[in-house]
Amino acid sequence: MKRSLIGLDRAQLAQALAEIGVPEHARKMRVSQLWHWIYFRGARDFDEMSNVSKDIRAQLAETFSLDRPEVAVEQVSNDGTRKWLIRLPAETAGEKPHDVEAVYIPESDRGTLCISSQVGCTLSCTFCHTGTQRLVRNLTAAEIVSQVMIARDRLGEWPGATRAEGTAAEGEAPRLVTNIVFMGMGEPLYNFDHVTNAISIIADGEGIGIGKRRITVSTSGVVPEIGRLGDASGTMLAISLHAVRDELRDEIIPLNRKYPIKVLLDACRNYPGVSNARRITFEYVMLKGVNDSEKDARDLVRLLKGIPAKINLIPFNPWPGTKYECSDWDTIERFSEIVFKAGYASPVRKPRGRDILAACGQLKSETQKLSARERMALRAMAMTD
Ligand code: SAH
Ligand code: SF4
Repeated sequence: MKRSLIGLDRAQLAQALAEIGVPEHARKMRVSQLWHWIYFRGARDFDEMSNVSKDIRAQLAETFSLDRPEVAVEQVSNDGTRKWLIRLPAETAGEKPHDVEAVYIPESDRGTLCISSQVGCTLSCTFCHTGTQRLVRNLTAAEIVSQVMIARDRLGEWPGATRAEGTAAEGEAPRLVTNIVFMGMGEPLYNFDHVTNAISIIADGEGIGIGKRRITVSTSGVVPEIGRLGDASGTMLAISLHAVRDELRDEIIPLNRKYPIKVLLDACRNYPGVSNARRITFEYVMLKGVNDSEKDARDLVRLLKGIPAKINLIPFNPWPGTKYECSDWDTIERFSEIVFKAGYASPVRKPRGRDILAACGQLKSETQKLSARERMALRAMAMTD
């Protein structure tokens, strides 16, 4: 099989050109051309690259491809949310392919793409479905970038492409994917190098061009990597806080035993570039009877005092076999009222794409498929919301 150039950085593209005999002095210019065709125009065929000489196009096509990973399943929710199950080829012979998910969530003022950084997750937060998955591997930078390429392909977002049915027409929205969040499968800060490399490709203004301030990395609290992330990539940061006391956070996010709340919040205070214009998002999943009391809400705002913060309340998304339930709507409202009065705006995240199981924490690869009965149960839950 030919190697794909999709997801490679400039140095890797230069290496590919060297392999087909492009002399060193010409590589930089050729890399810029490839970059433009691959990441700005979304080219699927070397023959589209009209400013690249015919000879080089033919040589490239002989050795390389512009193939994206296969989309095994595409689902479109009745609210416009789209989910793609992406099949990644096995890394070694004999291994099965892995599946990861990417989810596109259109809103009136933005379109957010939620992407995965690992197959599964080595951490095992008790409320998260991904955390129950045994199989884990880091995604390569190319595989992370491919998720964005696939979203643009499927939405018809490349220049000159036809926009997919149900998406905003070209005149209405210059861009469909405006923001990226690393909130799919995996802990991005446990795959640091590949994630930061992918970010620099995605943010590059001559290609995909989704700026760093529109990219958010969510972490369960890998403290030593938080400062490094700010230094290396300058993206926005989201912290999965979910509890205001160490005793509870130790239980639901076992990583807290290593990096307790105080240490985590100190890392946030020192996050490079943090300011009122660049706030840190604190995610807080609403678990019935576990972390949703009025005292929890008051402690939350007290805890975050002095940190430029946004608070994002996430209704818990149930999955088969979980012991948790989502807090009642009244409880969420009371909680959110306290947070609102403390000066944080509209904090409840609306559940999206529930009919296609596209919500946070529900992502789990096809290699561990849900049984038909589990699917029925989830669908029933989604319908009674
Ligand atoms: N590993 C990273 C990023 C992926 S999880 C992290 O933990 O931050 C993205 C977000 O979804 C996190 O805030 C996570 O806590 C939340 N989440 C996980 N399971 C969930 C569930 N069942 N319902 C709602 N949110 C969930
Ligand atoms: Fe991993 Fe994040 Fe899920 Fe925790 S919440 S198990 S860190 S993906």
